Amino acid sequence: MSLFSAVEMAPRDPILGLTEAFNADPRPNKVNLGVGVYYNEEGRIPLLRAVADVEKSRLEIQAPRGYLPVDGIAAYSTVVQKLLFGQNSSLLEEGRVVTAQSLGGTGALKVGADFLKRLLPDATVAISDPSWENHRALFQSAGYPVKNYRYYDASSHDVDRTGMLADLNELPPRSIVVLHACCHNPTGVDLAPEDWKKIIDVLKARDHVPFVDIAYQGFGDGIEEDALAVRLFAESGMSFVISSSFSKSFSLYGERVGAISLVTQNRDESARVLSQIKRVIRTNYSNPPIHGASIVSSVLNSSELRAIWEVELAEMRQRIHRIRLEMVRQLAAKGVQQDFSFVSRQRGMFSFSGLNIDQVDQLRNDYGVYIVGTGRICAAALNTRNLDYVTDAIVQVLG
Ligand code: PLP
Repeated sequence: MSLFSAVEMAPRDPILGLTEAFNADPRPNKVNLGVGVYYNEEGRIPLLRAVADVEKSRLEIQAPRGYLPVDGIAAYSTVVQKLLFGQNSSLLEEGRVVTAQSLGGTGALKVGADFLKRLLPDATVAISDPSWENHRALFQSAGYPVKNYRYYDASSHDVDRTGMLADLNELPPRSIVVLHACCHNPTGVDLAPEDWKKIIDVLKARDHVPFVDIAYQGFGDGIEEDALAVRLFAESGMSFVISSSFSKSFSLYGERVGAISLVTQNRDESARVLSQIKRVIRTNYSNPPIHGASIVSSVLNSSELRAIWEVELAEMRQRIHRIRLEMVRQLAAKGVQQDFSFVSRQRGMFSFSGLNIDQVDQLRNDYGVYIVGTGRICAAALNTRNLDYVTDAIVQVLG
């Protein structure tokens, strides 16, 4: 028997499988709305001008490629902290935040999960129902049991606020609660400021550990607005963990640029926590890559490039919002009785469309419109050229 003869085939990733099927589809008018990336009006992943400018000057410098420190570029961590907590955060002045560069938001979640597992080996992790499909797998692979808390109410296309608070209350004390700060993936349905306050009260009362995942800062209502949850947790006095990512906001998906930040109670705790985070990183991949994080820190440390980036980010955010409005308008104009206005209230790249699995199958088989089985549409993959075709197809499958 060979070493690998007993290895079983791992289940296929449903979203990657969808893209493979899309790529193999010969129909010229096919549309892939199953993806998790932002496409511009031309249907391409944009290379931001701010990014291209920095890359050009970096190439000219011909910088050497030594190892970075285990926790990454210090100037990068500083800009991450300022984006998350605000320019004048007292937490930063008090040395209560530690940040380490990570391999995207996913890397931050994994480093955070591995670190917490040593600290709270018997805890339960709770994620929203539904959530980004990797949340469950990630925390399970760190050795945690993962439960759901109620989040999405399909009938109202809104948050099940009562259910969510009740479930958070019922978790064992000191559970780790993963929360989407903004632009909830996959539903597009976010919590309002007053919801966050209630959630924070429950987490505090139950001594839970907030793990705030912010992968879309700037894609919802704006850079500062989208950080509201982080700011409220900061004000709460709690210790908590944040995973953040520049994959979307800098369109740097393949460069793997993220960060893990931990809010502690004082400088002394911070030093000890950072030393342990470094240990987790060291034993996983030693130290992070240079390119993406150096671009982000160069852009955010230059007032000129930052201004360019902010305009580019606003363009992405506003284009998604416009296409949402246009989708709602077209569906109504094409005679759809069902009210789709909830699509325009959703935030970020994704939209829970409310389409069922039969309709999803029909969209793919009959029209070459690919969306995830749950009915999740990537609104950021719609544009003024494919929208008419997509809304026609939706009208047909709605019957
Ligand atoms: N968290 C959420 C909620 C996401 O939707 C994603 C990406 O889709 C991530 C984390 C991971 O982002 P990254 O590509 O930076 O690893």
